[in-house]
Amino acid sequence: MRPGRRLDRRGVKPAPFDFVAATSIGEAVSRLAEEEGARIIAGGQSMMPLLAMRLVRPTLLVDINGLGLDHLSPGPEPGELRIGALVRQRQLEQDPAIAEACPLLSEAAALVGHPSIRNRGTLGGSLVNADPRAELPTALFALAGSVTIEGPGGRRTMSAAELSAVPLTTALAPDDVLVEVTVPTAVAGDGSAFCEWTPRARDFAVAGVAVVVHTADGVVSAVSGAACGVAPGPLDLGDALSALVGSGRPTDSLLRAVAASVQAVCSGNSYFDHDMEDRAALAGILAARAVWRSVQRTRIDSTAAA
Ligand SMILES: Cc1cc2nc3c(=O)[nH]c(=O)nc-3n(C[C@H](O)[C@H](O)[C@H](O)COP(=O)(O)OP(=O)(O)OC[C@H]3O[C@@H](n4cnc5c(N)ncnc54)[C@H](O)[C@@H]3O)c2cc1C
Repeated sequence: MRPGRRLDRRGVKPAPFDFVAATSIGEAVSRLAEEEGARIIAGGQSMMPLLAMRLVRPTLLVDINGLGLDHLSPGPEPGELRIGALVRQRQLEQDPAIAEACPLLSEAAALVGHPSIRNRGTLGGSLVNADPRAELPTALFALAGSVTIEGPGGRRTMSAAELSAVPLTTALAPDDVLVEVTVPTAVAGDGSAFCEWTPRARDFAVAGVAVVVHTADGVVSAVSGAACGVAPGPLDLGDALSALVGSGRPTDSLLRAVAASVQAVCSGNSYFDHDMEDRAALAGILAARAVWRSVQRTRIDSTAAA
C-alpha cells in the first residue's frame, strides 16, 4: 500500500487505517505520540492476523522497517552484544556470530513458529507482543538482558524483567519504539539451553524453560532461568534453580529436586488455570532437561565436585 493512503473499505479484511513508512526513529515516535490510535508494524507476524480479525483497529500503522534497526554491534560494556530490534528471528537462529555470542537466543529463535514466520518476525516485535508462551522474551529474561527504548522523552534502558513486569503486555508506552536489545555474551564455562514441549511440531509451546549456568573450575557458580507458558509473562526460576550452585555435573537426585522446585513455583500461578498443574509438572521436567543440557554444554569435568 502506498504511504499516506487510507485503505479502501471494500475487499480487505482489516478495518480502515492510514499508513506511514517512518524514515527515522524520531518520526515514528512523533507519529505515535500525535495519534492515539497509531500502532507500530514491524514483521507483521502478530499484527497482520490481529488486523485481519479486526482484533486491533489502529487508525494509523507506523511501519518501522525502513529504520535500519538491524544492526549487530558490541555492547556499551565489554562482554555485551547489541542486536537491533528489527533483526529477524531467522537471523537470530542462523547467524553464526549470534550463535557464538549468545547461543540461547539462537536456540530460542529456532523454536519460534515456522521458518516463514521467522523470516519476517523480528526480535523487537516478539518482545513487545509479549505472548505468555513466547520463547524470545523468556530467553532474554534468563540472560538478564535489557532493551533500549526511544520515546518522546528520549532514550532509556529497561531490564528484561522490567520490560515484562506488566502482565500480558510490556512496560512500553504507546509512543515508545523498542530500538535494540543488549545481551551478555557467553564465555568459557557458560552453558545454556531452551527446552519446550509442543503438541505438534512448530506450534506455540505449552511450556518452555530457558536456563543459563555459569561455571568455574567445573562447578556451577551461578544459574538463572525463566519459564514460558506458565504465567502472564516470563516466570523467574532463579530461586528454584539455586540448589545447582556449588554442584558439578548434576546427579539424578539433584535434577529431581530442581524439577520439584520449578513445579512448585509454577503451580503458584493461576494464569492458565484450566490445566495449570499439568503445565507446572511439564515445566519441572523441562527445567531438569534444560539444566542437564546447559551443564553438558559447559563441558564440566564429570569428576568435578557433585
Ligand atoms: C502461525 C504463527 C505461529 C507463531 N508461532 C510462534 C511461536 O511459536 N513462538 C513465538 O514466540 N511467536 C510465535 N508467533 C508470533 C511471531 O513470533 C511474531 O513474529 C512476533 O510475535 C511479532 O514480531 P513481528 O516483528 O512480526 O511484530 P509485529 O507483528 O509487526 O508487531 C507485534 C506487536 O509489537 C509491536 N512492535 C513491533 N516492533 C516494535 C518495536 N520495535 N517497538 C515497539 N513496538 C513494536 C507492534 O505494534 C505490535 O503490537 C507466531 C505467529 C504466527 C502467525
